[in-house]
Amino acid sequence: MSLFRHAVFEISVAKPQDLPEPTGPEIAFAGRSNAGKSSAINTLVGHTRLAFVSKVPGRTQLINLFRLKNGAALVDLPGYGYAQVPMAVRRQWQALLEIYLARRQALIGLVMIMDARRPLTDLDRQMLNWFGPTGKPVHCLLTKADKLTRSEQAQALRAVQAEVADAGVPITAQLFSSLKKTGLEEAESVIGGWLGNPEC
Ligand code: GDP
Repeated sequence: MSLFRHAVFEISVAKPQDLPEPTGPEIAFAGRSNAGKSSAINTLVGHTRLAFVSKVPGRTQLINLFRLKNGAALVDLPGYGYAQVPMAVRRQWQALLEIYLARRQALIGLVMIMDARRPLTDLDRQMLNWFGPTGKPVHCLLTKADKLTRSEQAQALRAVQAEVADAGVPITAQLFSSLKKTGLEEAESVIGGWLGNPEC
């Protein structure tokens, strides 16, 4: 039985400080806008529209919290890097995200969603820099892997692994495709492992 099946939507909040007091461990999902984060969450939870795939880029972005059956929560952070959001708004958001990532005690790990064709952008690196000092694990899903050939996939994975190898913090990476539903078991086993449930 998958850990993520039957996740339920619990709440949307505008700012990290509006999140309810934690009632269980939290796993955050972050990524650039359009990287495929909503699709990846929907794929993990086996639900086509739990995290909405069609969103209007740049409109007020919310943090969505989904509750798993074991009491843990998936925290879907707003996509970053959307060019048309005014700089002042982006800065404000970044500050809030930084505080959440660095200080939320209940947060036990970060899942970074990156387009396998464009992994580790500057903003992705910034997220890792904010989260790294916590010493908590990061798992990178290189999604839309179906858009790459097998050798390109292997190359993308190797490049990311090589770059994060020196980070001094536990960062793992894998290929993923929401379209083809590949990489699901590996993701479940890594994230389940954080929750002390390696078998899911
Ligand atoms: P978000 O902004 O990061 O939440 O990205 P979305 O999940 O909304 O996806 C952005 C676009 O990429 C949509 O058009 C999706 O259909 C597409 N997409 C997402 N995941 C995949 C994937 O694994 N393979 C392919 N081919 N397209 C994907």
